[in-house]
Amino acid sequence: MSLMCQVLASGSKGNSILVCSPRTQILVDAGTTCKELVRRLDRTCAAPAKLDALLISHEHRDHVSAAGVLSRRFDIPVFTTRGTLDNLPSNTGRFSSVSVFNTGKCFELGDLRILPFATPHDARESSGFIIEHEGTRLGICTDLGVATNLVKARLQGCHGLVLEANHDTERLLEGPYPWVLKQRIRSSHGHLSNEDSCRLLEEIHHCEMRFVVFAHMSETNNHPDLIMAASRDLRQSPRWENVRFELATQNEITPPLELNGSRQA
Ligand SMILES: [Zn+2]
Ligand SMILES: [Zn+2]
Repeated sequence: MSLMCQVLASGSKGNSILVCSPRTQILVDAGTTCKELVRRLDRTCAAPAKLDALLISHEHRDHVSAAGVLSRRFDIPVFTTRGTLDNLPSNTGRFSSVSVFNTGKCFELGDLRILPFATPHDARESSGFIIEHEGTRLGICTDLGVATNLVKARLQGCHGLVLEANHDTERLLEGPYPWVLKQRIRSSHGHLSNEDSCRLLEEIHHCEMRFVVFAHMSETNNHPDLIMAASRDLRQSPRWENVRFELATQNEITPPLELNGSRQA
C-alpha cells in the first residue's frame, strides 16, 4: 500500500477522513464528537494516539467539533490556515500544537506531501487538499460552491478523489429549507450539486484515476439513489470502467481505498 484513504464520516452533521501512507497517518477534519471519531478509528488501521496530524479544511462545526478535544487528548498537531484558525468556534479550546499553512504552498508531513488549495465557500479561508506519496495523488475537495479553474487545475491528475456531491438541485428547491438557506447552498460559495460534481469529474478524467468517493451528501436534499442516477451515464461510459465509485455517508465508514502506484485501487 502506498496511500490509503478511508472516509470516517461525511455530511452536514460531521466530516472526517483518514489518510495513511506506510509511515504517516493523518486526519482531514474532525467534525463528529470525539467519542464517535475514536470509535470509528478503532475500526481502521489507525489509532488516535498514533496520528501524525489533523488538517482542518475550514471552521464550520461539521469539520471541527472534535478538533480541540482530539488534539489535546491524543497530542495531535493541528494544521490549518490563519483564516480558519482565527474563526474557529469559541468552544474549540486550544490545540496541543498548531501550524499555519498557506493555500498554494506545499508542506511535508512524514512521507506525505500536502498541497492545500483555496476553495470558494462561505468560510474565511477554506481549503481542499492534494495529498501525495511517491507520485500517487489523492484529492480531497468538499464544501465548495463552484469548481473554479484553480480547483480543476489542482484536481487534475489525482489517482483517487473524495469529491462533494451535496444535493440534488430539484430536491433542494422543493425541500423544507428556508429560501435564504437554499440560496446559500446554491451560491458560488455554497456546495456542489450532484450534477456539478459529475460535470467536474468529466473535465478532470484521466486514465490513471482509480477511485471516486462522492462525499458531503445532504440527508435532506439528496439521496444515494439520486447520486447514482446523476452519475449513471458517467459510470457506465467506457472511459470510467476502471474507476471504483463509493458513496460516503454520515453513519458508516467507507471501506479502505488503496492506491498502489499505477495498479488499480
Ligand atoms: Zn461541511
Ligand atoms: Zn462548510
